[in-house]
Order: sequence, then structure tokens, then C-alpha cells
Amino acid sequence: MARIRATSGEVRIAGAGVAGLAAAVILSRAGIAVTVDERADSPPATGTVFGLAGSAQDALRRCGVLERVRAVAVEQRRGTLRAGDGRVLIAADLPHPVLLVTRPDLQKVLAAELPAGTVNYGRPGRSPSEVGIDHVMIGADGTFSPTREHLFGPDAAPRPVGITVWRGTVDAFPTPTAEADTLYGETWGRGALFGITPRWDGRLNFFGAVRAEPGIATVEDFFTHFADWHSDVRAVLDGVGRDTLLHHDLFQSPPLSRFTSRRVALVGDAAHTMTPHLGRGAGEALIDAVTLAELLVEYPVNDAFARYEKTRRRRSLRMVRASAAVGSVALADRSTPMRDGVLGLVGRAMRRR
Ligand SMILES: Cc1cc2nc3c(=O)[nH]c(=O)nc-3n(C[C@H](O)[C@H](O)[C@H](O)COP(=O)(O)OP(=O)(O)OC[C@H]3O[C@@H](n4cnc5c(N)ncnc54)[C@H](O)[C@@H]3O)c2cc1C
Repeated sequence: MARIRATSGEVRIAGAGVAGLAAAVILSRAGIAVTVDERADSPPATGTVFGLAGSAQDALRRCGVLERVRAVAVEQRRGTLRAGDGRVLIAADLPHPVLLVTRPDLQKVLAAELPAGTVNYGRPGRSPSEVGIDHVMIGADGTFSPTREHLFGPDAAPRPVGITVWRGTVDAFPTPTAEADTLYGETWGRGALFGITPRWDGRLNFFGAVRAEPGIATVEDFFTHFADWHSDVRAVLDGVGRDTLLHHDLFQSPPLSRFTSRRVALVGDAAHTMTPHLGRGAGEALIDAVTLAELLVEYPVNDAFARYEKTRRRRSLRMVRASAAVGSVALADRSTPMRDGVLGLVGRAMRRR
């Protein structure tokens, strides 16, 4: 592969999340000098599961790590959608298996591909104004990206969407109501949803989301909100360690008119934070990073940035909108009997086919 043609300098990446690490892997393998500055003092030790669709798996293949990720992942081949009372609305094989992998495991596999010393933990990313004429900077610094703020100001910051989510891991339990193959998937209630997915170590990953203004919901709300849901949800609640529960309010980016500016490009959540209803944020971050890094290897910087904008901006903004649309149906707080009726009909039609 050719080296970056328009610069003899290095590529500086802010953020060692999935996007920053994936970009660094492609660039360093092509012989380009790359450093990654990560604000946190060390790689994450905890974090629940990402579901990676086929296009994200392809990005991992292009990084040369797909088989290593598979070794610490589990495939989900079937998905179920249930109503709040536990009725199965849709149960179907997925068109393409989703790879489920924890954030720490995915990041560990990517980081292991980099030469020692590439990632500087405990060092915040530099300001884009410090990027020299022969350097390139990639802002992979997540939802609250200082790089994006510097380029586009506070109006480009992601906004809360009025949904809060708790996540965690529990030991497997006997499934009282669900058949083994209907345990995994989501349950959509009124203004709330609950999801259960497998983990490679035999435990279960779960997430529960409700409509709530940011900063208001508490751990106690998680337990009270889902207390009268179906028995599989209640079995998860019984197994949860309160101090291990992760809790986030959800944010969504306003659409940026550009992902690049002069010598700086944004990737992943820094460019397009989306709600998790399609389970695509990490996957799209990987695809951004791999696409941009491959283009920087092949083309002069200006050309690479123009091609990156063309390939990635519209697609990822469509994904942001699609994810929000799914969320508004999944967490609908009106007309849920009608929604469930329609979904039940869809499920029956799929079974007949
Ligand atoms: C509840 C929930 C569930 C989700 N489920 C899924 C799923 O199933 N599938 C999926 O694909 N995605 C999922 N996502 C989305 C996924 O977590 C993100 O889209 C993904 O992590 C984005 O990767 P990134 O590398 O762009 O950013 P991040 O993973 O956020 O990484 C950014 C990095 O930058 C660092 N950083 C921040 N500021 C600075 C700074 N100033 N200097 C240096 N470093 C800095 C941070 O410490 C972090 O390490 C989910 C998100 C949420 C909230």
C-alpha cells in the first residue's frame, strides 16, 4: 500500500475507543506514524456487549482482526420481540448473524495489533489548532468530543433524547416462560423496553430503557419500573448487583454539514452519536475509522477527506435518523396495543413464510 502522499508527518488520533484504535491499526500497518492520545488512564475494564452487524464485521476483517474478535464473541442468529406481558410477537432467524462482543474485549483485540507505545493513556487529545501543516488529526473522542466542539462549536453538541438506559450482566438463569430460543431479544412495553442478549462466557447481558428527562432517574427507578414485567425480566432483576449496574442518558447528534475541516476529521460518535435502538453505533464507528484510514493510505489528504465525506456522511446520518425512528416505536407511550397487534401480525406472516 502507498503511504500518505500529502504529508510526511504523523496522524494524531484523539480517543482510544473502537474507532480510534481501528483507524490506528490500518494506518500503522501501512507504515504511517500514528499516535493515539486517550484521556482515560487505562483501557476499560468493564462494559457491556456491542452487537456488530455484517458491515461492522467486514470492517474488522479489513483490520485483520475478525477471527481474533470471534474468539471472544458469540454469534446471535435468532431474535425475538415480545410484548410487555411476555407474548412473543416476532421470533425469527436474523438475515445475517450479529457478533456480540464486550467493549473491553473488542478494544483489547484492536490494541494488541498496535506497536508498543502507540497509545498514550492518561493524555487528553491535542487541540486541532496544534495540528501542523504536515500532520493529520482524527477526532475519535466520542459523544462529548472536544475536537468536534473546537471545529463546530457548542451548537453541534449531541442533545439528550429523553431516554435513560441501565445495562449490565447477570448469571444465566432457568427460563420460566420463554423457550430457550425466545429468551434473547427485546420486550417492548409502554414507554419502556428491556433487552436480553447472550455473552460468550455463558452469562447474560441486559439493558432496560425508559423515557426520562436527563439526570433524574435513579437505580431504584430501574427496579420499580420493570418489577411487573414478564418473568424473564423479573429473573434478570433478581440477579442484578446494584453496584454493577451501568446507567446512561441517551444523546443524539444534530446532523453535521461536514465531518472534516482542513487537516482534521471526525469519526464515530464524535461525528454522529446515535441512540442504540438499532445497535449500530460501534459498528458505524468502526466503518468510519476503517474507511477514513484506508483512504488516507491511498490518497492525498484533501482527496481522502472528500471521499470520506461522500462515502460516510449521508449513510451515518441516515442511521442516526433510522435509530431514532425505531426508538420512537419501541418506547411509544401511546397506542401500544395497536403497535403490538401489528407486530404480532408481522410475526405470524413471517412464520408462515
Ligand atoms: C446504552 C448503549 C448501548 C449501545 N449498544 C450498542 C450496540 O449494541 N452495538 C453498537 O454497535 N453500538 C452500541 N452502542 C454505541 C457505542 O457504544 C458507540 O457508538 C461506540 O462506542 C462509539 O465508538 P467511538 O470510538 O466513536 O467512541 P467511544 O467508544 O466513546 O470512544 C471515545 C474515546 O475517546 C476518549 N476521549 C474522550 N475525550 C477525550 C479527550 N479529550 N482526549 C482523549 N481521549 C478522549 C474516551 O475516553 C473514549 O475512550 C451503545 C451505546 C449505548 C449508550
